[in-house]
Formats: sequence, structure tokens, C-alpha cells
Amino acid sequence: MGRGRPQMALQQNSDAAIACAVYFKLNRIAAVIVDYSGKSVGEYAIELSTRTLSGEEVRKFTVSCIEGAVQNTVHKVSALCRIVVGFQGVIDVEGDTVLWSPICQQTNIPIRRWLQEHFDAPTRIFNDCDLIAQALHWREPEKYGNHFGTVLLDHGVGMGLYLRDNIINGTHSSGIEFGHMIYMPAGALCRCGNAGCIEAYAGDYAISRRARGESGQTPPSNVPDPPDLDAVLLAASQGDANAIAAIEEAGTAIGTGLASLYALVDRFPIVIVGRGAVLFDYMETALRAALASAPRHSEHPPIAIDCFIEVGSLVQEGGAILALQAQDEAFSNRRSPTAVSP
Ligand SMILES: [Zn+2]
Repeated sequence: MGRGRPQMALQQNSDAAIACAVYFKLNRIAAVIVDYSGKSVGEYAIELSTRTLSGEEVRKFTVSCIEGAVQNTVHKVSALCRIVVGFQGVIDVEGDTVLWSPICQQTNIPIRRWLQEHFDAPTRIFNDCDLIAQALHWREPEKYGNHFGTVLLDHGVGMGLYLRDNIINGTHSSGIEFGHMIYMPAGALCRCGNAGCIEAYAGDYAISRRARGESGQTPPSNVPDPPDLDAVLLAASQGDANAIAAIEEAGTAIGTGLASLYALVDRFPIVIVGRGAVLFDYMETALRAALASAPRHSEHPPIAIDCFIEVGSLVQEGGAILALQAQDEAFSNRRSPTAVSP
């Protein structure tokens, strides 16, 4: 982990426990083990085809990945005190179950129960965007403080939203499905089955579809997977009109969605994260033009927009932070006089 671990009330003893942060994304599961000081002490990753996994295979490969990471440390699996999983998908708000995911066909995947039964360690699942926002908030609290939003431009389009120093979720699910807010009613086909979503213009498959000169009515499943955004960037840099239009349309869709959110909750700085961030230079003008439609109650400085292309380490860092913070609380409660049985 980048800068150790969050400040805590108790003295750190790095042998006290180990925790595991898992990132389950399209075609890859990666686990990192951190000791109690927050230092990475072992990693393991499995490349696989997530779209064809059965429920049992999701369980088996996630367990194998965690065991593989522990085996790369000097610790035993029994030392595992917490597991946090970041998953590309919609999670129930309790962090028990993956309700739906664009990366596999399974729904209602009870990963928390599976891992707790296997490892006997408290486990929680988060949407990957929430963990990215968590990691940025912890890395640079002055910059990514009380209010900011991350827009993930990767396989899909996601958002992590921090407002008034709290991560924002839905009432039942991880929510903040920014990519599936409607940008153009009855517009381009989205992978979610609807039409006209922001993702149908700004997801990697959508940018690739438009850059190849295809109609928005081309089913997302007909787009090569994963689409090559570097090729789109190269074509744009060489003046290819379709590639430039594809990136600008993505910028307009994202900016329009953000302007709608600003109307709801006021302005907040933005961090563009994920592979799509490589396109930002060609996207920025259109995105900012769309942002100009946001309500303006007084003079505002331009919205701050940063970019991070590599997100895997952020997801794992956010997971490790939350795992260790939860473990701190468990240790504190155990040592608190009120927690001691009479
Ligand atoms: Zn959609």
C-alpha cells in the first residue's frame, strides 16, 4: 500500500492480523494481503473468462485467489482477520451480495456468505467505484475531501460519490449508477438493455462502436471485447473524424450527466479514473461545454478535473483501508471496559 495505513488509536503491531483486499473485475481476480501496519505482504491474481463463470466457479476462483495470496506470505490462512471485495457490479447496501454485474451472467451472488463460511473472517463487498473514492479520499484528504466524485471510464461507466464527507449509496444498493442515467431518450443501445444511457456513449464499447463509424443501434455484444481505446486515441491523434467524434460524444454525455447531478446536489470536483482517462485530452472541451449547462447561482471557478488511469491499486488500497479500519474497531470494542463481560 502506498503510504502505510490509516491513523488509529491503538499501537500498531504488524503481526496482530492480516487482511485481504480483492478486486474482482472483467476477466481478472486479484488479491493482496496486508499486514496490520498496512504493508502489502503477498499478492495473487487469476486471469479467467468471467462472462462464462457459473456461480460455483465464482466462489471457487475467489477462494483460490485469496488462498494463493496468503500462500505468498509467511502467514497462515487462519491469521486472516478481514476480507474486503471490490466488485464491478451493483452490490446490496449491506455489502452481502452482488445483485447484478456487467462482467458475469450470475445475479444475486452471495460472496460475503461464501467467504465468511470458508475463511471464518468478517467479509464485506463494495462496488469498485466506492473503494476508488475511499482510496483517493485517504491518499489526499485536502484535495479529495468532503465533496468529490470519481467517474470510472472502463468497461462500463461508474461513479463513486463523496458528499459532506460521506460516501453516497442508494437506499437498497450501492447505487450511483451514473452510467445508466439517461442522456438521450431512445438513443444508442446500452449494455444494460436500455437505450440512451450515458454509458451507451461513454463506455469503452460505445466509444469503440462510434469510432468504427457504426450506428448506436449496433448491439454492444457485437463490439470486440475488450475494445482497444489506445487504438481510438491513436486514430484521433491522426485526425480520424469518427474517432474524434466518438470521444467528443463521450465527453458531452458525461458532462451532461454531471450537470444534471450538479442541479441536484451542487458542484463537486471530478476525478476521471480508468482506461478511458487516456482519452481525456480529446474529451475535455466537449465535457466542459456540457458542464456549462449546470445551474449557476453565483460565479464559480472552473470544475477541477483530475485523471488516474490505473485503478486496480486504488480499489485494493480502498479495500485494505476499510478492512483495517473495521479490524481496529473490533479490537477497540474487545478491549473496551464496556465490552468485557461482568
Ligand atoms: Zn444502461
